[in-house]
Amino acid sequence: RTRTSADLIRAEEPVLAHNYHPLPVVVARAEGTWVEDVEGRRYLDMLAGYSALNFGHRHPALIEAAHQQLDRLTLTSRAFHHDRLAEFAQRLAALTGLDMVLPMNTGAEAVESGIKVARKWAYEVKGVPADRATIVVAAENFHGRTTTIVSFSTDETARAGFGPFTPGFRIVPYNDLAALEAAVDETTAAVLIEPIQGEAGVVIPDDGYLAGVRELTRRRGCLFIADEIQSGLGRTGRTLAVEHEGVVPDMLLLGKALGGGIVPVSAVVARRDVLAVLGPGSHGSTFGGNPLAAAVGTAVVSLLETGEFQARAATLGGVLRDGLTGLVGRGVVAFRARGLWAGVDVDPAVGTGREIGERLLAEGVLVKDTHGSTIRLAPPLTITEEELGTALGALGRVLEG
Ligand code: PLP
Repeated sequence: RTRTSADLIRAEEPVLAHNYHPLPVVVARAEGTWVEDVEGRRYLDMLAGYSALNFGHRHPALIEAAHQQLDRLTLTSRAFHHDRLAEFAQRLAALTGLDMVLPMNTGAEAVESGIKVARKWAYEVKGVPADRATIVVAAENFHGRTTTIVSFSTDETARAGFGPFTPGFRIVPYNDLAALEAAVDETTAAVLIEPIQGEAGVVIPDDGYLAGVRELTRRRGCLFIADEIQSGLGRTGRTLAVEHEGVVPDMLLLGKALGGGIVPVSAVVARRDVLAVLGPGSHGSTFGGNPLAAAVGTAVVSLLETGEFQARAATLGGVLRDGLTGLVGRGVVAFRARGLWAGVDVDPAVGTGREIGERLLAEGVLVKDTHGSTIRLAPPLTITEEELGTALGALGRVLEG
């Protein structure tokens, strides 16, 4: 007998760590913007794997690249060269306007690697005394789950019980250049920020903030590290969110969509003089830059080189914005949106973000709350205008009760 969704949810309970509280849907299949559960019910995916599925589920070009690579070579380790890595690094660097790539796997690993590179750069290039380097970060950040990364989180749920923490971080309010100016000193290796804070609820800084961070870091002699793991690769209507202010950081952290929703692929992309601080043996990863990851990552870069997905995100972002504007005062208190990415604050009287998610699930639409009464909308960039209308219609119905 095939097991039902309820069976499978019950079966997880005793054997899976309870570090997530998923919506009660068990996905078995997916294509494009749609997923299907084990009973064959279809849902419109308005989360897209936290932006790991920017090109939709099983994009044909990405699946084809993966299949071809599976048939040829999957892993070498970096003990040897392989024939896919040079092209991946070259085209990713060209796409982002930077010089060199350090391939890793998950987002958190890219962040950890960026922190290590920035510290080494501070000691070897800037001349900060040993073990004194500091990194300035923003309150309400989300950069991942490792011990060092949660050391500078301001979310108590993410930190409680996990100390002792890594020292060397200074936390300033987001979107506050004066606070940043005051926190930077001669020990500062880098300023690490999300150009748009995703997990915080799609918090968009004021115009001029990113350009201001660029100017400040250049003037004060520290690195600007942009964590574009969620904001990057087409989501906001540009390849990178920093492009909205014409800014190029010294170091860029990418992940999620870089793996095309198929394999974990992340990268630190940086200026040559910055990544040059890494020598043989100083850093590594068994799986980082493996042939399958490089093949899929290169296919992702190919999709982005066309500009088609960025353009879709920009155009359909207007449709999303108009739709949400129409819901303000009808269950929506406020929203923030850029491209196909929105944080929607629902009137707490209507329900928590979780409750809205459950009601949308019943309407055949998958979303995720961030916290409190905020839900996030981040569909695959392949979504059609009609599908977007379907999602907005369902949201309208759910908010009206
Ligand atoms: N940085 C940002 C901005 C993120 O949104 C995330 C994941 O949500 C991460 C880092 C961590 O990525 P991963 O879950 O792949 O470790």
